[in-house]
Amino acid sequence: MFRVTATEIRQALPPVMIIVVVSIVCGVVVLTIGMPLIGFEQIRLHYTLAVVFPLIITPILVFPLVIMAQRLQKLKAELEGLLRVDGLTGIPNRRAFFERARAVFSGDSPAGAMMIDVDYFKKVNDTYGHAVGDAVLRAVGQVIKRVVEASPYGGPRIAARLGGEEFGALIENIGPNDAARLAQEIVEQVRAVPVVAGEHTIPVTVSVGLALRRDEETPDALMQAADAACYEAKRLGRNRCCHAAGLVERLRYDGEALGVLCQLAAAG
Ligand code: GH3
Ligand code: MG
Ligand code: MG
Repeated sequence: MFRVTATEIRQALPPVMIIVVVSIVCGVVVLTIGMPLIGFEQIRLHYTLAVVFPLIITPILVFPLVIMAQRLQKLKAELEGLLRVDGLTGIPNRRAFFERARAVFSGDSPAGAMMIDVDYFKKVNDTYGHAVGDAVLRAVGQVIKRVVEASPYGGPRIAARLGGEEFGALIENIGPNDAARLAQEIVEQVRAVPVVAGEHTIPVTVSVGLALRRDEETPDALMQAADAACYEAKRLGRNRCCHAAGLVERLRYDGEALGVLCQLAAAG
């Protein structure tokens, strides 16, 4: 059954009116040109028909088509939105992340990228079950999104779930010190917010690898550097942030920031 709402009719009205006017004009023009050629009589009747016919018939034919076209347009916009949202956590997904990364990297603005990996996540699944694991991912995703979006550093910013228990953050126009502070904030906030799933309260930590854009690095290269730094954070005991090789020389830390970052000696 083709149900139509008042809003849909209101939205369809302008294009339908345009089509009606165009069809009347076309009818009148064709009549004016064609009449002398074929010698029609009853000119007034034909002109009346050329106006009345489109006025009645065109809306009947065109209204459903316009409404269908508008619905398809809306559906397309919704689908495009869904294609960029992670189904489990509700935050942007890998596709959205790398689309944004490509947009950022087409310019020459400085940017920071983070690879964020939940520590010992397999153990959470094994101990509490997959559903609780999913709840942990949802909670971690929300914390990361909140911290990144509320951050006063740099911007624009995007946080995304890249897959499994891995998340990414991308911040434009951010310097090394602020990026280091934000990375540390993510580690601390995830640790501070306990995940409650049923009767379980599950302590969760993450390891963060931070890389800053140098020269003309591509998003992939930068995320690889962030991934290597994340791996180093794991190696050094997890629940911490490490920065990518080479970044340390460019930092002018205050004592606080210097204290929270490990150095990537192995990869340097
Ligand atoms: P590490 O501290 O070294 O990162 O160890 P880890 O256990 O977190 O890492 P590992 O790669 O060994 O395990 C990741 C697990 O994440 C394995 C996989 O079953 C689980 N996983 C991936 N996607 C999902 C998901 O969508 N939901 C749940 N519940 N588990 C997932
Ligand atoms: Mg992982
Ligand atoms: Mg992990």
